[in-house]
Amino acid sequence: MKPFNHTNATSIAEIKTALADGKTTLIAGGTDLLGTLKDNILRDYPANVINIKTVPGLDYIKEENGMLKIGATTRLADIAANETIQKKYTALAQAASRVASPHIREMGTIAGNIAQLHRCWYLRKPENRFDCKRKGGSTCFAMQGDNRYHSILGAEGGCLAVNSSDTAPALIALNAKIVTDSRTIDAEKFFEVKKPGNTVLEKDEIITEIQIPEPPKGAKSAFIKFAFRKSIDFPIVNCAVMIGGDNPRICLNAVAPRPYRAVKAEEAIKGKSITEENAAAAGEAAVAEVKSFPEAAMFKKQIAKTLVKRAILSLA
Ligand SMILES: Cc1cc2nc3c(=O)[nH]c(=O)nc-3n(C[C@H](O)[C@H](O)[C@H](O)COP(=O)(O)OP(=O)(O)OC[C@H]3O[C@@H](n4cnc5c(N)ncnc54)[C@H](O)[C@@H]3O)c2cc1C
Repeated sequence: MKPFNHTNATSIAEIKTALADGKTTLIAGGTDLLGTLKDNILRDYPANVINIKTVPGLDYIKEENGMLKIGATTRLADIAANETIQKKYTALAQAASRVASPHIREMGTIAGNIAQLHRCWYLRKPENRFDCKRKGGSTCFAMQGDNRYHSILGAEGGCLAVNSSDTAPALIALNAKIVTDSRTIDAEKFFEVKKPGNTVLEKDEIITEIQIPEPPKGAKSAFIKFAFRKSIDFPIVNCAVMIGGDNPRICLNAVAPRPYRAVKAEEAIKGKSITEENAAAAGEAAVAEVKSFPEAAMFKKQIAKTLVKRAILSLA
């Protein structure tokens, strides 16, 4: 690991000023960032790292004005264990509880979870050996190479790497908003991929809060994940659904460069009772837009439609 200066911030304003120099990176739990620094996978190496976890007042879970509010530095373990979230915003508690391992959930924050870098073995190869499209290069090495875990819904900005956040699809299914120091962004729009980058965040933009409206009366939500290991492992595919209000919301992740809202599946289940047949039809509709490339990843299509079906059935 190369040396860098580390500062414990005491305010958002201090972080904002620090990020303006273009040589500073924000760190929260560090569970994703430190790996990227140790492996030196990016084009630029920060001279300074500034810690947001020392800013007071950013670690909270509260209900206010018909809305759940979660501070940016709230740890995933606290979200998973929170009774209100378990009861009313179930998909989020379930998603947080499925991230990585107890150690990572104790360190990792909600903001870090949604701002984490994409997963792709070319992108993350140590010493920036593949200076790929997502980093601003000219080639997506996964296009020609081993792409068995990559996007099955096409490339974005020429890149096939997937977003592997577990909480992202839950936040989209629950219709959340991401609040930063300068604006409020629909969770669905937050993950639009910039090149290079993972989200719509500007280089000096700081997430401060997550807001989730109280689910409609009678609505229930669920999150389900397929990974090769039941213990620490990224999703091959994950899925969150909210059903019971007027408009069902269904979101898959790890199937595309950004979380994929399965609108056709929502239409298929809208107004219908939860039965094996209707859930299966929604699963089929969810994968209607899956591409025939990459062929090696087509198993993910089967997993995606099964997860949608099972997540819906879990709410019967
Ligand atoms: C072995 C391993 C397994 C993992 N498994 C999973 C998994 O199964 N599911 C999953 O979803 N994730 C997984 N992760 C990814 C990730 O570490 C965690 O999701 C964690 O939540 C990241 O949060 P953090 O606070 O540690 O982020 P950090 O590592 O501190 O930051 C990650 C990124 O977010 C940015 N960031 C952090 N906070 C803010 C903020 N407030 N405003 C703007 N930008 C911010 C940082 O600058 C950095 O670019 C895994 C990681 C490892 C190492």
